[in-house]
Amino acid sequence: MNDMIKTAEEIAVLREGGALLSRALSAAAAAVRPGVTTEELDRIATQVIRDGGGEPSFLGYKTRATDRPFPTTLCTSINHEVVHAPAVPARPLAEGDIIGLDIGARYKGFCTDMAVTVAVGEVGKDVRKLMQVTRESLLRGLEQVKPGNMISDIGKAVQAHVEKHGYGVVRDLVGHGVGRKVHEDPRIPNYFDPHLKPVRIVPGMVLCIEPMVTLGDYAVDTLPDDWTIVAVDGSPAAHFEVTVVVTETGHDIITPLPV
Ligand code: MG
Repeated sequence: MNDMIKTAEEIAVLREGGALLSRALSAAAAAVRPGVTTEELDRIATQVIRDGGGEPSFLGYKTRATDRPFPTTLCTSINHEVVHAPAVPARPLAEGDIIGLDIGARYKGFCTDMAVTVAVGEVGKDVRKLMQVTRESLLRGLEQVKPGNMISDIGKAVQAHVEKHGYGVVRDLVGHGVGRKVHEDPRIPNYFDPHLKPVRIVPGMVLCIEPMVTLGDYAVDTLPDDWTIVAVDGSPAAHFEVTVVVTETGHDIITPLPV
């Protein structure tokens, strides 16, 4: 539990790192257009992080000892890819695609994490609504991030908003604490999981809230590259994420989303 609480000094570093990460993702998101490749977006984001004195934290990341290390700074998940699609080999974006850009950096020893889903040119009405509802669901989840509430209140709020619109809340991937490591406790599902040990939200926690939402069913699968997570039914998926610090009265977003 104590590992979940960061000191004021650690939080000051996390805020600096979060601002840098936000600049990197904003630069990559601003470059999204038909014809640009995932590798070009990755190069832009990497440059901003390194120029600011940070290191990409997903690059070289392994989930288990046997895994192939993740090959890029950005995850570039297109259309029915939910999360974790590497930016190489380079793929060009096409008008009407949506792309989830997920990024993490380590700055002075501390990690932050964020994601945004961006439209490539003009996208269909149903996909635009999926993106909007997913972003709204993140805001609904964030409203619950305050001392005294439970971690499970976040997922309940996300799930209620998403399911009201008939979309799927991905179960197999969850939000998480963050700090010295890319992923720390607690687990933060985007749905209500009655089996999860209750955790109360307290000041000093640093949390990544990240709804992953599909236009169809929420079941996901992993592609043979061992990384890319896709919607089994092929439906488009959206993903938004911010890192927040829990304060005495609520929370501060330390990785503002690109506007
Ligand atoms: Mg995350």
